[in-house]
Amino acid sequence: MDFAELGEFGLIARLGSRLHFRSPNVKIGIGDDCAVYECAGDKYQVVTADALLEKVHFNLSTISAEQLGRKALSVNISDIAAMGGVPVLALISLGVPRKLTVKFLDAFYDGLDQISRKYGVELAGGDTVASPELFYINITVLGEAKKDRLFTRRGARPGDKILVTGSLGDSALGLKLLRSPRRNWSATSRDKKTVVEKHLDPEPRMAASRMLAGSDAEITSMIDISDGLVQDLGHICTASGVGADLHAEALPQSAALKRICSRNRLDCMEFVLGGGEDYELLFTTTPEDVKKITERSQKAEAPIAVIGEIVPEPGKLSLVAENGWREPIRKPRGYDHFKRGEKG
Ligand code: ADP
Ligand code: MG
Repeated sequence: MDFAELGEFGLIARLGSRLHFRSPNVKIGIGDDCAVYECAGDKYQVVTADALLEKVHFNLSTISAEQLGRKALSVNISDIAAMGGVPVLALISLGVPRKLTVKFLDAFYDGLDQISRKYGVELAGGDTVASPELFYINITVLGEAKKDRLFTRRGARPGDKILVTGSLGDSALGLKLLRSPRRNWSATSRDKKTVVEKHLDPEPRMAASRMLAGSDAEITSMIDISDGLVQDLGHICTASGVGADLHAEALPQSAALKRICSRNRLDCMEFVLGGGEDYELLFTTTPEDVKKITERSQKAEAPIAVIGEIVPEPGKLSLVAENGWREPIRKPRGYDHFKRGEKG
């Protein structure tokens, strides 16, 4: 069995199966956006870690030091938001190659500081080592969530509606533009900026998460979209033992994405369904609670769209067209570190 056969998620499952100790205080271990553990009072602690490696997650020729600092912390805060939590503190470990300058790291920390202040999360420590070649960043964020408003990937039920914040696919399209700068893209600089910024400077949907946690709507499952809509919806379906119908015409697309795709003969749906790093929240709720949620989308600081519903057949994902035509969604679609294909 090699890495390509296992894939990223097969590898994680295999490694996880070798770990046998279970603490009575750990409520959720491997398999969700955050680990969750019991502490006193009416709150859980939620913890997440994400690694960013140069040439895999970022390229120093296309992202500024400050943007990288913002993004590194933002993607972790997005995982806390996905659980309905609030971030409290972060630890950061760096592998620093000699080619970087002190000035670069100063700017990187300015970016971290901006996000840290914006979301009230203190950078409270970490570790620093020299790296032979590549810049490596690992951030761990601790947060808390109210016990009765913890949202996990497990709990979606047949008949539930599927909702998503913001728009999909911009980040992956932005990455495509960044990757082939010399290609003669037919796009206004404003449209290009919109999609590229969504890739370089994603905004965690903390306001939407706060709105949902603060409401009395029944949120039956939630995840943040880091690996692409289909893959992350697949995680909800696997954890919940259900399937999903997605309504093609309801999938939210930005005007910039639509224009760039049509002018350059690209298929929008490839980006919308498979594109990674949207960092939007994908969640399910009962049909009765949909209105309650969409009416409060102003408080969420992002539009919220209803994009489909949960069906009983485990693992079955379908795309339903406006005329009722139904096509199975082929998997895998989305990013896997060990299988073929590239991010975005
Ligand atoms: P996300 O995209 O939300 O960051 P991942 O797909 O990276 O989630 O990880 C899925 C789950 O597997 C998470 O619970 C994560 O903590 C866990 N995980 C990832 N890598 C490892 C590892 N090497 N060992 C143990 N658990 C891991
Ligand atoms: Mg996540």
